[in-house]
Amino acid sequence: MPSYFAVVPAAGSGSRLGHETPKQYLMLQGRPLVEHAVSRLARSPRIERVLVVLAPGDTRFGEFDWQVYSDKLVPLYCGGPTRAASVFNGLLAASDMADEGDWMLVHDAARPCLARADIERLIEEVGDDPTGGLLAVPVADTLKRADGAGRVAATEPREGLWQAQTPQMFRYELLLRALRTADPAAVTDEACAIEALGLRPRLVQGSLRNIKVTYPQDLALAAAILAGEEN
Ligand code: C5P
Repeated sequence: MPSYFAVVPAAGSGSRLGHETPKQYLMLQGRPLVEHAVSRLARSPRIERVLVVLAPGDTRFGEFDWQVYSDKLVPLYCGGPTRAASVFNGLLAASDMADEGDWMLVHDAARPCLARADIERLIEEVGDDPTGGLLAVPVADTLKRADGAGRVAATEPREGLWQAQTPQMFRYELLLRALRTADPAAVTDEACAIEALGLRPRLVQGSLRNIKVTYPQDLALAAAILAGEEN
């Protein structure tokens, strides 16, 4: 039986938020975003280990208390210049833990609201699919293409369009091979690297609550989602 590992790339600078603090260390309900992501993955009994990929020289991770996760949490100080490079380096560092057929669930440190049901659905629906798959949601809004001057140049058909989320799960050997040959600057998620091999990852219905914190207002939205969960 294959094992399931989570990989959390958390080596970004988070500059899009306009903060000094890298995004994964922004605080939400008294805990850094990366801890929310880790705790959601670690509490799934299906997941054997949670590998967190940090920037070499990261000093903040060690400022928090991770004891509750004991051996299930493995920090790896091998992040790279892009998300794809960080994931690739993390996979290389896991070579003594993971077998080629094991599943790697790659999840953004900046997605703190992942529901247990979404992890379960992803694992169930991907099953033993030879390619793997990802959580995603069908695009609900009408899409406009801008003309560069703040005006609408065209309305784009949204049929068949999905927004990719994470986790994205692929087998260890396949993901390693895909990322080794991919152009890191062009690959914004793992599925993209798999697609470049000519494969078609399975789309698994996710939920809108699994937001990625990208802009400052997203922190308030994430807090509201988590508060709603407790009621
Ligand atoms: O910046 P973006 O939202 O695309 O980052 C997605 C995830 O990838 C974040 O968890 C971030 O920390 C991580 N990342 C990384 N190494 C980089 C850039 C981003 O691990 N060089």
